[in-house]
Amino acid sequence: MQNFIFHNPVKIYFGQGQATNITEEARRAGGAILMVYGGGSIKRNGAYNDVMKALQEAGNEVIELAGVTPNPRLDITLQGVKLVKEHDVKLILAVGGGSVIDCAKFIALGAGIGEDEDLWDDYIETGKQAPEDLVPLGVVLTTAATGSEMGDAAVLTHWERKRKLGYTSHPLTPRFSVLDPTYLTTLSREQTIYGFADMFCHTCEQYFSLPSDDNLSDEMAEAIMRHILRSWRACLAQPTDYTARSNAMWDSTLALNRIISRGKDEDWATHGIEHAISAKYDIPHGAGLAVVHPHWMKYVVEASPEATARFARWATNVWGVDATGKSDLVRAKEGIERYSDFLARVGAPRTLEEAGVHPDDAMFDAMADHVGDDARGSYKKIDRAAAREILVDCQTPVSFE
Ligand code: NAP
Ligand code: FE
Repeated sequence: MQNFIFHNPVKIYFGQGQATNITEEARRAGGAILMVYGGGSIKRNGAYNDVMKALQEAGNEVIELAGVTPNPRLDITLQGVKLVKEHDVKLILAVGGGSVIDCAKFIALGAGIGEDEDLWDDYIETGKQAPEDLVPLGVVLTTAATGSEMGDAAVLTHWERKRKLGYTSHPLTPRFSVLDPTYLTTLSREQTIYGFADMFCHTCEQYFSLPSDDNLSDEMAEAIMRHILRSWRACLAQPTDYTARSNAMWDSTLALNRIISRGKDEDWATHGIEHAISAKYDIPHGAGLAVVHPHWMKYVVEASPEATARFARWATNVWGVDATGKSDLVRAKEGIERYSDFLARVGAPRTLEEAGVHPDDAMFDAMADHVGDDARGSYKKIDRAAAREILVDCQTPVSFE
């Protein structure tokens, strides 16, 4: 295992009715609260009422910032920064999915940097680490997808420049997160699928990385992947089932709270390619991942005997591919095909066209430029040319014919 630091201080309030704990958190914050949310789903799933009730009990001043869009953008983030400064906000409360949480993280960052610094150019583009003493963040989660509720990462779009970038820094980690699975029952079938595609991909991006020596992280990742597949089927079969939604919520949190990447590299090449698609076409993140991920696998499966062996292990341990008498490569390809078939069965897009994206040559170039040559990847580095090849291959479902 590689050396590592593990420091995840997020307090999780898990289960039905846990939003009542916000009263105590608000009292602890001891001042104005900026409540950030999206287009209104929280008013239909009960989260808004629960949060308001808890905040009224505490008595803090509450400022609302509504209208955060999926693939959140810089402009609304800067509105939030202004509000934090104007009202001397002591707690930012994100009520929503990954987009709302990430926007709130960047509001905290934007309010904490120097007056002469620029959030986008000086931090998000460069990856410069955040100052330590940001306004604390609380989360009330309403999707099972990103893991942002228990992580130090966030993703933002600069729409005018058509750039979507991830940013990771420990001070962005929330102070607490309320995970009440009842809020998930209003998710559409599509959003449910996109969330599962995202959490499954997160688990893979850490699992398909070096070193491949014996380690607990990989065993845990396999368990999480098997469990995600179970929860995925269960939530689609019974969208209002509490057990199914609770499992989905905890699956997604554990998939990206960094516990399964300890001692390992992290790949994130598929996320890099997806960000290039949604930066240009504003499609849901999970839809883009469902398209790209099996194609990335096809591109990487023969990168080295070690990579092939890892895919073979995954095929057997996650997808139940029978190993008897088969080479690693045969098993590996069977696993990737099962993944692609599963995505088709649940109704996830498998091609750019199915995701509503029809690039011409210039757009393939633009997306490849977005990935750039600052290659990500562990078993195989994915530079601009590789990303373009993978994206072009995404025009048809993955196939080894
Ligand atoms: P989302 O973009 O936050 O929300 C997608 C849609 O679902 C919105 O229209 C939202 O509506 C709706 N919605 C949310 N909760 C709902 C509920 N309980 N019932 C009904 N509708 C609901 O989705 P997400 O997948 O959680 O987040 C995606 C974003 O996170 C992307 O920008 C992606 O790049 C990023 N991401 C971040 C990380 C990270 O580590 N930070 C990791 C992966 C992805 P309203 O607007 O009305 O609420
Ligand atoms: Fe993701």
